[in-house]
Amino acid sequence: MRFVSTAGKAPSASLQEALFAGPAPDGGLYVPEALPAITPPERGSLGDTAFAIAGRLFAGDIADEVLEPIVRESLDFDIPLVALDDGIYSLELFHGPTHAFKDVGARFMARLILQFLDSEATVLVATSGDTGSAVAHAFLGLDGVRVVVLFPRGKVSELQRRLFTTLGENVSSISIEGTFDDCQRLVKQAFADRDLQRLVSANSINVGRLLPQTFYYFHLFAQLDASARKSLDVCTPSGNFGNLTAGLMAKRMGLPISQFIAATNVNDIVPEYLKTGTFEPRPSTETLSNAMDVGNPSNFARMLWLYDGNVEAMRRDVVGRAYTDEQTRETIRSVHERLGYVLDPHSAIGYMGARESKAATRVFLATAHPAKFRETVEPLINDKVPLPPAIQKSATRPEYVSAMSADYKSLKEFLTSS
Ligand SMILES: *Cc1c(COP(=O)(O)O)cnc(C)c1O
Repeated sequence: MRFVSTAGKAPSASLQEALFAGPAPDGGLYVPEALPAITPPERGSLGDTAFAIAGRLFAGDIADEVLEPIVRESLDFDIPLVALDDGIYSLELFHGPTHAFKDVGARFMARLILQFLDSEATVLVATSGDTGSAVAHAFLGLDGVRVVVLFPRGKVSELQRRLFTTLGENVSSISIEGTFDDCQRLVKQAFADRDLQRLVSANSINVGRLLPQTFYYFHLFAQLDASARKSLDVCTPSGNFGNLTAGLMAKRMGLPISQFIAATNVNDIVPEYLKTGTFEPRPSTETLSNAMDVGNPSNFARMLWLYDGNVEAMRRDVVGRAYTDEQTRETIRSVHERLGYVLDPHSAIGYMGARESKAATRVFLATAHPAKFRETVEPLINDKVPLPPAIQKSATRPEYVSAMSADYKSLKEFLTSS
């Protein structure tokens, strides 16, 4: 498959080039030149479905016998579809090693990168919460790659932070005096810097992370009864909109989803765009669903590209919704009380979006395990949320963190000196 830039001014790229490039040279993001038409598998395991989709997406780039272990090792955990109430289902994407949906993309991307790597490389990643740990875990202990994680000081929960700061080995982390947007800006600057060689991007702009996220949309379809598939909406709690973009691509490839609900917290740049037709990035606001505190969602360029910049066309496929922390708290409390189901703050936003849809079947993506946000969740449900083993282990280990101001010179020094 060839990849083209959303900005339309760069030459097309191979999978390998797109994988290592970060943004395209014209500042756009790489997207597949053409998406294959796929008949969605009606049943089958996650691994089988994912391999069927991957085989079509990467045909001609990676031999099937190489691709199959990449797919199956990346997805060696369950992604169950859990029925809640009146046609609402939770697609639990949080059973991977760091208990957030980003494990899917990060694990696949890490294995893809290793396939193509012929010398030492540094994976540089900015995180507002879950990306850092997913990427760090995906590359942990792999030879020839080091991972550098940038995070905004004090703005990532202790549990989330410890999942990447306690790993050691080939993983370093830097706490930045600033916001997530500052971290993202520093990463962008590093990629634009010609002095720095062999930098690999692992943010949601990397096609190696984006494309495998299409797999679980097909997998949710394969888990539904034929009757439940007839009127199907999917709600994706969103920040940088990589998850939603992957869903839109799955629909474009032939997955019969009627509409997507793009649900955000008060950082509602995309819902506002859908309402007004104007895209106005602004500094992010801190919320309970901090992995979605994004003021300038990077994958918006890909969403626009998919609809040729036509807001009317996008509105036919996507409805925007935004929710406050107060609504998030109330939802966590009431869903637990009514159904005994524990939502994390991100998944709660997904649930609210799904509930507002009129489709007979509504699936929301549950993007994080509630234990990762237990400071918020436990007082609301008046109960303990047991910690999964990976999180428990990281709670007692020492942390390895460097500190820096949000200044590019210091980052460059760090990247070139160590
Ligand atoms: C990253 C993240 C999101 C947002 O996903 P995007 O692809 O950036 O829109 C939602 N929930 C959780 C728990 C996340 O970690």
